[in-house]
Amino acid sequence: MNDLNQAYQNFFKSTQGKRKGKPVKPPKFKSRKSKQTARFTKGGFKVGQHKIYLAKIGKLKIVWSRELPAPPSSVTVIKDSAHRYFLSFVVEIQPEILPKTDNSVGIDLGIKTFATFSDGTKVDAPKPLKKRIKKLRKLSKSLSHKTKGFKRYEKARVRVAKFHAKLKDTRTDFLHKLSTEIIRENQTVVLEDLFAKHSEGNVSGMIKNRKLSRAISDLGWRQFRTSLEGKAEKYGRDFRVIDRWEPTTSKCSCCGFKGGKLDLQVREWKCLNCGSKHDRDENAAINILVAGGHSETKNGRRGKRQTSVKVAAANVSGALRQQNVNPPRSYSSVGIPAPLGRGGCQQPAISLIWLCLFY
Ligand SMILES: [Zn+2]
Repeated sequence: MNDLNQAYQNFFKSTQGKRKGKPVKPPKFKSRKSKQTARFTKGGFKVGQHKIYLAKIGKLKIVWSRELPAPPSSVTVIKDSAHRYFLSFVVEIQPEILPKTDNSVGIDLGIKTFATFSDGTKVDAPKPLKKRIKKLRKLSKSLSHKTKGFKRYEKARVRVAKFHAKLKDTRTDFLHKLSTEIIRENQTVVLEDLFAKHSEGNVSGMIKNRKLSRAISDLGWRQFRTSLEGKAEKYGRDFRVIDRWEPTTSKCSCCGFKGGKLDLQVREWKCLNCGSKHDRDENAAINILVAGGHSETKNGRRGKRQTSVKVAAANVSGALRQQNVNPPRSYSSVGIPAPLGRGGCQQPAISLIWLCLFY
């Protein structure tokens, strides 16, 4: 009800020209097919050790993904499209600042190798979909043969949803482990604007190419960046994104000589000017680090940093065991993945914790 009120407030203020930013549309009903959520605020719930009491629902057994650091101010029950139940608590916590280090790293993201660091380390990502593509085809085929609104259709739909949920978990787990490690070990992390590559001539066909675009979404670049960003904020690290027009692949990291565009197939090349041999991705990672060093303002976001929302959005996008902190100045109403109640009001540090719920 509070959310609805806030939504209407936003809408009316917007139509009267009192609210800045994009025009706000009137609130809509949530789709019954997608994720279902319900929020309980103070007084509406009580947390026990193995159980939680929810108003009008009663006691539920719960399994914690991790301990709550402080008493929660609200809880959201989520049922995702794969019929899994989660509880998400809103908790206030202080950002913990990690001891400073002198390390910094540039990261080049790619398809063959998920991430190449400027020190030459390469990390491969699990490609959960690549392995199971046949199964997905089978499942979606079976779904397409059924009629909407019937029980068989619903069963098939849940099967597909479960399949996708599993992929997402594998991906998320990997990305979180990797990003935590990177943030712990480095003071400065520099990443290339991910969509830069697509606009470079040699890779412009990337997103149009179905196989490639599937490979890219299987990797979760965007999610990786978001979680790096959030964790940098949480632990007091410096996260930068370099300009989208910065040449990273084609520039020699030794002498700065700019060679021509490199075809995707070219993994190694030799500089025509100084003669040094480069690994394609490592060279790019070094260039990214250098570019990040001398262009502090170029964070690729045109000054509009919305980390808090992004951090929360990362949470919403299906993490099972994660915890993110927003900076103290920001507010996250996005803990509730509904289009309602995104007010611009100020609230202190907030973190979201996801828990699996068993019946
Ligand atoms: Zn050179």
